[in-house]
Amino acid sequence: MRAVMAEQQVDVLLLSVGADMPYFCGYEAMALPRLTMLVVPRDGDARLIVPRLEAPRVEERPGVFTVVAWGETEDPIALARSFIGSASVVAVGDRTWAGFLVDLVKLLPGVEFRRASEVTSPLRSVKDAAEVESLRAAAAAADRVAVDLRSGNIELVGRTEAEVSAELGRRLLAEGHQRVNFAIVAAGENAASPHHEAGERVIKPGEIVLCDIGGTMMDANGVGYCSDITRCVHLGEPPADLVEAYDVLFEAQAAQVEAAVVGQPCQEVDRVGRGMIAEAGYGDNFIHRTGHGIGTEAHEDPYIVEGNTQELRPGHAFSIEPGIYLPGKWGLRLEDIVVAAPDGPDNLTTTDHHLAVLDA
Ligand code: ZN
Ligand code: ZN
Ligand code: ZN
Repeated sequence: MRAVMAEQQVDVLLLSVGADMPYFCGYEAMALPRLTMLVVPRDGDARLIVPRLEAPRVEERPGVFTVVAWGETEDPIALARSFIGSASVVAVGDRTWAGFLVDLVKLLPGVEFRRASEVTSPLRSVKDAAEVESLRAAAAAADRVAVDLRSGNIELVGRTEAEVSAELGRRLLAEGHQRVNFAIVAAGENAASPHHEAGERVIKPGEIVLCDIGGTMMDANGVGYCSDITRCVHLGEPPADLVEAYDVLFEAQAAQVEAAVVGQPCQEVDRVGRGMIAEAGYGDNFIHRTGHGIGTEAHEDPYIVEGNTQELRPGHAFSIEPGIYLPGKWGLRLEDIVVAAPDGPDNLTTTDHHLAVLDA
C-alpha cells in the first residue's frame, strides 16, 4: 500500500468504516458514530485510532499498526489530526462518514484530499490465487442454492416474495455463508425493477421469478469473500415474447463471458452484450451496466461499464449480468462471477444458464 501511495504521491492514508481497513489491517471498524480510523503515513508508523470501548475487539498487529484508544470525552478528530503532521495530500476512505471528513477539512486548510480508493482499489481489485479460491468457494455455495431453485426444490407458487427471499437467505447460510448480503426475489412485473425489494406479493402460476442472491463466506483466515448469482425460473410454459428475449439474453451473456479476457477493456465487455441486445430490439430495456467487481465487498472495482477503459488483468473478478426489463410485464437477468485469467475467462458460476421452466 505504501508503494502505491508513493507512486500516487499520497502522504497520508486515512481508512475508516468499509472494506479497505479490514483488507489491509485485519480489523473492521464498527459502523457507529464513534470514530475508528487507521492513519497510515507514507513514511511513518501506522496508528489505529479506536474508541476505548471497542479496543478489546482489536487483534493487535505489532509491526503493522499501534492501537491508540480514545476515551469518551476526548476529541478523536484532533487525535487523527496530530498523526497527520504536515501532509499535503491526504487520501480518505471512500466510505468514511462525511461528518468526520468535514471536520478534518476544517482542521487541515490547504491540504488536498483524495479518495483512498485511488490507492486501495488497484490492490484490492486484483485477486491472488488464494483469493480466487475463496471467491470460488463462495460461488459454489451460491450455485448450490441456485440449482435447488432451478430444480423446483424451493416452493414458489402461493408464497410471497418475502417468504421465498427468507428461504433463499437461510439456504445461503446453510451452504456455508456467514452473512446474507441480499436475496432479491421478483415475480412477474416486479422483475422489471432490477433492485426490487421482495415484498408481500404472492407468486402465481404463469409468472417469471427472478432471483438474485449473494452472501459473504469466511475463508480459512477469517476474511469474507462474496458471492452473487442471478437465475430466472418460469412457472409453467413461458410466453413466446419472453422466450425470445431470454434467448437474446442467454447469447449476449455467454458472449460477454467469452469476451472477458486479459487485456480487454472493461467497456468492451459491456459493448459486446449491449450490442447484441440492442440489435435484437431491446436496447432501451437493458438499463444498467454489465457488471461490478467482487471480492471482500459485494460491489467494488472494476466496473464493467461504458467509459471504463481499464484493461482486464489476471485476477480481476467481476460479475457479468446483463438484463432485459419490460416495465409492467416482466424482467430477465442472468448473472455469473468471472475471473480474468491468463488462459481465458474463469467462470466461477456453474449453474445451468437456461431459463428453468417449472410445473405450476
Ligand atoms: Zn444489482
Ligand atoms: Zn446479483
Ligand atoms: Zn451482481
